[in-house]
Amino acid sequence: MSPDPLTGVVADVRDPEIDVGLGDLGVVRSVARADGRIVVRLAPTRLSCPARGEIARRVRSALTDAAPGNRIEIVWERGAWQPTAVTDAGREALRTAGYRVAGAVPRCPYCGSEDAVRAGRFGGAVCKVPYDCRGCGSPFDVIGTAGCSAVLPVPDVTQGGS
Ligand SMILES: [Zn+2]
Repeated sequence: MSPDPLTGVVADVRDPEIDVGLGDLGVVRSVARADGRIVVRLAPTRLSCPARGEIARRVRSALTDAAPGNRIEIVWERGAWQPTAVTDAGREALRTAGYRVAGAVPRCPYCGSEDAVRAGRFGGAVCKVPYDCRGCGSPFDVIGTAGCSAVLPVPDVTQGGS
């Protein structure tokens, strides 16, 4: 289906944790409008999963402003998010915030070293895996790792009925 103009509205909604749009995070799967309903399909990042309630609230608010009078349904597509869906702008915003989108090898966002070890402590949120860089000594968090998703299964949540 062709993208609805409302896709841009949803893509511009800011992530609650990092000042970056959901579109740049690769979270927005589709926005479809029919019969007074707007169905938004989102793929939660590991990073964003504790904040999904706030994301949903922001998306509803933005869509209510842009297209009043519609019923808004938000569907979380479990496991649909891929780190490769993050745009260059999204990666830059994540790096600025001290995050590193998971690749094959964790790389320090500060000095670029790949010599990093997984830290014993747990991250500030369950979706982040802490590493310590052995190049420059900086701690950093990796998101979107397979290990993290094993730690935190994302429930299928459909809000607003169907
Ligand atoms: Zn480093």
